[in-house]
Amino acid sequence: MAWKTLLLSYTFACLENEESPIAVLGIPLDVSSTYRPGSRYAPQKIRDAACNIELYSLAAGTVIEDTGFKDYGDLVLPPGDVGIALDRIEFVTKSIVKEHAGLMVVLGGEHLLTYSVVRALKNNIDTLVVFDAHLDARNEYLGSTLNHATFLRKLVEDGTKVVHIGSRAYSKEELEYISGKDVKVIGVLEALKGEVDLNDLNKVYISIDMDVFDPSIAPGVSNPEPFGLNHFEFMRVLKKIFEKSSEVVALDIVELNPLVDVGDVTSILAAKIVIEASGLYLKGREVSRIK
Ligand code: MN
Ligand code: MN
Repeated sequence: MAWKTLLLSYTFACLENEESPIAVLGIPLDVSSTYRPGSRYAPQKIRDAACNIELYSLAAGTVIEDTGFKDYGDLVLPPGDVGIALDRIEFVTKSIVKEHAGLMVVLGGEHLLTYSVVRALKNNIDTLVVFDAHLDARNEYLGSTLNHATFLRKLVEDGTKVVHIGSRAYSKEELEYISGKDVKVIGVLEALKGEVDLNDLNKVYISIDMDVFDPSIAPGVSNPEPFGLNHFEFMRVLKKIFEKSSEVVALDIVELNPLVDVGDVTSILAAKIVIEASGLYLKGREVSRIK
């Protein structure tokens, strides 16, 4: 199947640039949500927000309006069929990576999509860095083994090296599972103290579940959890990941749910994160060119 026929075209930040090193892909996967469904509406809401804020990265001190984005649009997904949806995500992501060399930004959708995007990029990445209140490392949830609460365990079983930041809500089963696995958990209390060891990351994929933020900052999420990170704490860690890694290959933003948001603040924060990450990515390229 021609993969481009599986995409509906949109423009991120109202600033299309075919030559941009930053690619955007919307994946409105919303099939296994258990508490509050609605993440399928997030890619459009994040694009809307990005059109209406300045394209300036505070963390990088960089204006990115000259760079813009190459938006591949939104992936068309079959309603209700998890297997076909995941295969399609993997296929289209692989196709984009063959065509586009640069940073890939994925706008979700529920966290399960990370499973397929990471599988598609597995030869391009060394470490998966996850921001999330939850470990998503259950063996099964409500009788299903492949959903937003189990995806990380599946990736660990595949041999993915994981650094997990900002967690604060665990099940007994998850804690037992991750002990002895290649998963470094930097819980929210350690992250707040700045105790974030990010050595040996090499090539990185960053997955941001918006519920890593405190619900007072990011109310529009499917599974809110109190005692989360704030903007500045998150930005400090994000910047450190860009500094410590050899390359950030891809970044996704998941579990944003516009149906339960308040004044679109969570969508605006997500758009701002894309701009911050883009600025940090571009600044890193400048540094490597000067070297
Ligand atoms: Mn998650
Ligand atoms: Mn979560």
